[in-house]
Amino acid sequence: MEITRPTSLVEALEARAEDPGADLLAGGTDLMVEVNFGHSRPEHVIALRRIAELAQIEDNRIGAGVTWARLEKSNHRGLAQLARTVGSPQIRAAGTIGGNIGTSSPAGDGLPWLAAIDAEIEVASKERGSRKLLWSDFFTGVKRNALGPDEVIVAAVLPEHVPQNQEFAKIGQRSAMVISTVSACVVRDDDGSVRVALGSVAPTPVRARQAEALIAENPNPNESVLDEFARTVSAEVSPITDHRSTESYRRHAAGVLARRLLERCLAR
Ligand SMILES: Cc1cc2nc3c(=O)[nH]c(=O)nc-3n(C[C@H](O)[C@H](O)[C@H](O)COP(=O)(O)OP(=O)(O)OC[C@H]3O[C@@H](n4cnc5c(N)ncnc54)[C@H](O)[C@@H]3O)c2cc1C
Repeated sequence: MEITRPTSLVEALEARAEDPGADLLAGGTDLMVEVNFGHSRPEHVIALRRIAELAQIEDNRIGAGVTWARLEKSNHRGLAQLARTVGSPQIRAAGTIGGNIGTSSPAGDGLPWLAAIDAEIEVASKERGSRKLLWSDFFTGVKRNALGPDEVIVAAVLPEHVPQNQEFAKIGQRSAMVISTVSACVVRDDDGSVRVALGSVAPTPVRARQAEALIAENPNPNESVLDEFARTVSAEVSPITDHRSTESYRRHAAGVLARRLLERCLAR
């Protein structure tokens, strides 16, 4: 296996342009699992860990190479909450938000937060320079995304205004080191409007837009509106039955989880 170790983004983009078939490696906590199971046999790996530009956190930008261990201390409450649920300390020390975005698993715990705040994914290539895609344009299916073969994910770009009232939670088959059966993130703005994003209940992260509209009409919901909110979320998702859970459990749990998170936002 050939390994290229660029120390700058420019070098990484050059290596990617020269060999678009090469695999990008960040923390390796997804890619190396694929290699260990024999699902992937990379001939050429471009290792991104030495690129300082990718590991930067700015006000409205989180570099693709930032690890979950660092994001556990984020000022964005939902991001910190979700980072703390990713794997174990060892996984969080190595795994990155860029790798989570790159894998684009429906169960990727970073994805509902990105969807809830309407983040953009910044990607770059040697030939075309940089471009930003709204999360909904980037994630295109189960483990599929709009990244070109010559591109690298550079950062998650946050909108100018990110509501700070955020709640994330996930449900799994056990309480730690678990892939999400359902995950959800709710953010509530000062005007009472909410955004509701869910993971593991569709091929990509999804927003429950009708449930959001319900709360826009009822910013201080009573019990019956909260019940309707949960039902609406359940109706809006499109989960599957697989080895982790059933379609009906996921649908029910999505509504329950979103309602609990909304109630937490309302109580703050
Ligand atoms: C034991 C265990 C527990 C886990 N628990 C969780 C969990 O609770 N929640 C969760 O969401 N995930 C979990 N994961 C999955 C994994 O840790 C995360 O998805 C992590 O964020 C992947 O980041 P990484 O840096 O290790 O990615 P890598 O494995 O290095 O890369 C993953 C994919 O993204 C691509 N990639 C990486 N960086 C870039 C980039 N800058 N540009 C373009 N493509 C890129 C790679 O080519 C590869 O296809 C777990 C994994 C393990 C092994």
